[in-house]
Amino acid sequence: MKIIRNIEEMKIISKEIKSKGMSLGMVPTMGFLHEGHKSLIKCAKENNDIVTVSIFVNPTQFGPDEDYESYPRDLEHDSKICQMEGVDYIFHPEPDEMYPDGYSTFVIPGEKMTNILCGITRPGHFRGVCTVLTKLFSIINPDNAYFGEKDIQQLAIVRRMVKDLNLGVNINGCPIIREEDGLAKSSRNTYLNEEERKAAIILRKSILKGKEFMDNGEKNVEKIRKVIVDSINSEPLAKIDYVEIIDFDTFDRIEKLSKNTLIAMAVYIGKTRLIDNLIY
Ligand code: AMP
Repeated sequence: MKIIRNIEEMKIISKEIKSKGMSLGMVPTMGFLHEGHKSLIKCAKENNDIVTVSIFVNPTQFGPDEDYESYPRDLEHDSKICQMEGVDYIFHPEPDEMYPDGYSTFVIPGEKMTNILCGITRPGHFRGVCTVLTKLFSIINPDNAYFGEKDIQQLAIVRRMVKDLNLGVNINGCPIIREEDGLAKSSRNTYLNEEERKAAIILRKSILKGKEFMDNGEKNVEKIRKVIVDSINSEPLAKIDYVEIIDFDTFDRIEKLSKNTLIAMAVYIGKTRLIDNLIY
């Protein structure tokens, strides 16, 4: 396995791989890898000749008051995981390499998909995500890229962007990997103290309460939402950022359950913002 820090070198390597007719899978990450990332890598390994993992904490997708500086980073640990998983290349550029002085071009996803859910409380986040992914796809030119359904809005926006801009990358969604108690794995879980960690299961617990309600035939979205909101509010350490139930095909807010309904939430546990979702 090789760690590449330079864009030109990465481009040459990717071109060589493609010229040999080999398939190239890519897993974009911000590092501090865990089982969730590993599941994407495994899927990439199964379906491609060569796998590149990008590890880049992308400054343009963080708001001014967010955790860019404090975001956990550990390249040594990440390298070991990638090596064990049989990754061929890690692409790990410095921020200056990706955004040199004078950088001024951004990819802005449509408002329909960003004026909702995380796009409201994290303005500019998806602009940063789409910009960095367009750059990474252009540098690495993968046949396949792998994304977790944990960041479901990101997955939908990236699918749309790749289609709209004819980027020619197959976007593959992979299921959410969870801790034993149901908490979705996340690099940000490391921010939680012991008490907060226990409280954090309220996200999954509340979604499942909503699901139970739906399984029993409830179709009224406001009623389902109320069950979920009340459940989260029963946890003193939890503070709701949003709980939304939308049509996942159109991104419209709905009153009655649709064929492809997305329940998505962001909840602060202490100072840590966690997300979770369910497609029903
Ligand atoms: P991140 O490093 O947090 O930017 O995540 C990189 C990729 O890993 C994204 O596509 C995430 O959706 C995915 N990912 C993160 N956590 C999980 C998880 N618990 N299960 C599945 N995929 C995940």
